[in-house]
Amino acid sequence: MHKNGTGSGAHAPDTTGAPARLSVALLQAENRRLREQLDGLIAEARLNQDKLRRFDQLERKVIGAASLAELLRTLLQDYPALFELDCVTLALVDAQHEVARILGDGGAPGSLHFLHTEQPLQQIYAAGARPLLGPPTAAHDFLFEGQCAALATVALLPLVLRGAYIGSLNLGSRDASRFAAGSSTDFLERLAALVAVCLDSALATERLKLAGLTDGLTGVHNRRYFEARCLEEVQAARRSKLPLVCLMLDVDHFKRINDTHGHPAGDAVLRYVARLIRAQLRGSDVVARYGGEEFVLLLPATPLASALDTAERIRRVIAAQSMPVKVAEPLRITVSIGAALLPAVGEGDAAVSAAALVQRADQALYAAKQGGRNRVLAAG
Ligand code: GH3
Ligand code: MG
Ligand code: MG
Repeated sequence: MHKNGTGSGAHAPDTTGAPARLSVALLQAENRRLREQLDGLIAEARLNQDKLRRFDQLERKVIGAASLAELLRTLLQDYPALFELDCVTLALVDAQHEVARILGDGGAPGSLHFLHTEQPLQQIYAAGARPLLGPPTAAHDFLFEGQCAALATVALLPLVLRGAYIGSLNLGSRDASRFAAGSSTDFLERLAALVAVCLDSALATERLKLAGLTDGLTGVHNRRYFEARCLEEVQAARRSKLPLVCLMLDVDHFKRINDTHGHPAGDAVLRYVARLIRAQLRGSDVVARYGGEEFVLLLPATPLASALDTAERIRRVIAAQSMPVKVAEPLRITVSIGAALLPAVGEGDAAVSAAALVQRADQALYAAKQGGRNRVLAAG
């Protein structure tokens, strides 16, 4: 084995002195250059390793998201934090307002917005469904919707599924060197493909959840959902000692509408009535289709007097509207509403109390019908 440090080697012994010093200096310089190069490579490898680790972390979160809301949080909150991005927005194609409905009131984060068609994305990504990197242009404004001021560079990732654009994930940085045009997009392409698949799957799950709990005709909750929710609200009202009111609403002489204008016209009226009811309620109120032309409402933390005000408002709004049915005369309908307050001193089985609450509202509705319809009555 060769021993180090003696200076012996392939070189002939040096007798002049100066050239030897020169070659030593040259070797040292070369050594320094190589060391710097190596340090640079190691630093780059560490950076890549770190980037890979963070991508891995992000991918696990994207795949592991338990719901659409969690997936959106991962993309719009965790992602910018993890990668020190100044801005991340998501534009989703949502022609039927389905995603907006699934996310419900206040469920959509500000950095998520909806597109009615995929056409603007087809224009942006005209050259092919590949990420676009570089400085932002005015044509990209709609993807950021005023969310991100003073971005120096952006990376726009097309989300494509089964040959169609389902959205665009948009990353922005104030650092001009962050997303240089022409740099490698392997990571980003992989992320975009993963996000598209996970969004699709999260949406499919939400659709299934909704289908089991929503009335297909009117889009409000169905009776099954109501039964479960009513029990929860009774329990919550007992705990909080806040009043809970149940309203039962039935369209007056609805059979005539079907008989005169046909079943599809009746369906349109039911859809419209559901919309008018919803428009009068707070986010915490519950409305469900109880059966045929009958709706049931729950108003938590509401005294009977204000629940009756709400019921009266619903009755008046519906009576004042012309129904969206194409007939010669404007088609007007009325509704009758029965109201019942959960007794303040209620103990025992919550399910029994919930059933009794609904029954009393139903009895009040019956009394309103008997009293001449188009009116609101409270249970005694
Ligand atoms: P009342 O004022 O006493 O409530 O009279 P009504 O005609 O509204 O009540 P009735 O119970 O006699 O008739 C309800 C009608 O609602 C009968 C049924 O065909 C109709 N109906 C039930 N479900 C639907 C539906 O999903 N679509 C349509 N178009 N009609 C429905
Ligand atoms: Mg009726
Ligand atoms: Mg009825």
